[in-house]
Amino acid sequence: VGTSAGDVTSRGIADMTAEHTQERQEFAFQAEIKQLLHLLSHSLYQSRDIALRELISNASDALDKMRFVALTDESQREAGPLEIVIEPRAAENQLVIRDSGVGMTRDELVTNLGTIAHSGSGEFLKNLSSESKDKADLSLIGQFGVGFYSAFMIADKVEVRTRSYREEKGWEWESEGTGRFTVEPVEGPLPRGAEIVLHLKDDAKDFATPERIKEIVKRYSSFVPHPIKLGPGDE
Ligand code: ADP
Ligand code: MG
Repeated sequence: VGTSAGDVTSRGIADMTAEHTQERQEFAFQAEIKQLLHLLSHSLYQSRDIALRELISNASDALDKMRFVALTDESQREAGPLEIVIEPRAAENQLVIRDSGVGMTRDELVTNLGTIAHSGSGEFLKNLSSESKDKADLSLIGQFGVGFYSAFMIADKVEVRTRSYREEKGWEWESEGTGRFTVEPVEGPLPRGAEIVLHLKDDAKDFATPERIKEIVKRYSSFVPHPIKLGPGDE
């Protein structure tokens, strides 16, 4: 037992000196993001559609970027279909939003989803605190550049699996929205783009039904210049 523990440690250190660690790494959210997450996870029911709107908007942005890459980078000309798939999984109480956009590298995951000191989160919080709490307009979140975190309005755990068009390897980000998140490599192949898996809160189960998703998508999809498909579970 003693020797194997020693092996694990020395392997861990060796990998850290390699280009990137092959192991699961834990990170703390930047302080203001942590505050924002606390507020979002206690948000009112009626503002919860925002979560799906923001995730669709991010998927759409990633597809815009991929379309540009496909036009300008010879090696990326065969970019395949650029689309968004939304998959409600009622039996598992999950909602999945998938896109074939640019995806994220490991470093992009770490900085974009948790550690970059977005001035937006502080400003958004300041903006909210100037209103009474139950009238707080969370729908403005997207304008402050922190829309992703609205996922925690309806989910108590979020997984992001992603592969950048620049890499062969995929990465998984995971968090319960309480202060920390982890990033680790994904075993095996992963399609280009991003897949956001929302483990829905008990009181947000309606987001795993096709009816609810259709209703929200109908309201927002006219602003999205990419196809939005409803995945299995639609039937
Ligand atoms: P914003 O969209 O205003 O930049 P967000 O909090 O919504 O702020 O997202 C933060 C960043 O995370 C995005 O700018 C983008 O770089 C990255 N990101 C989020 N979702 C995706 C996605 N589906 N594909 C690729 N990158 C993404
Ligand atoms: Mg966004």
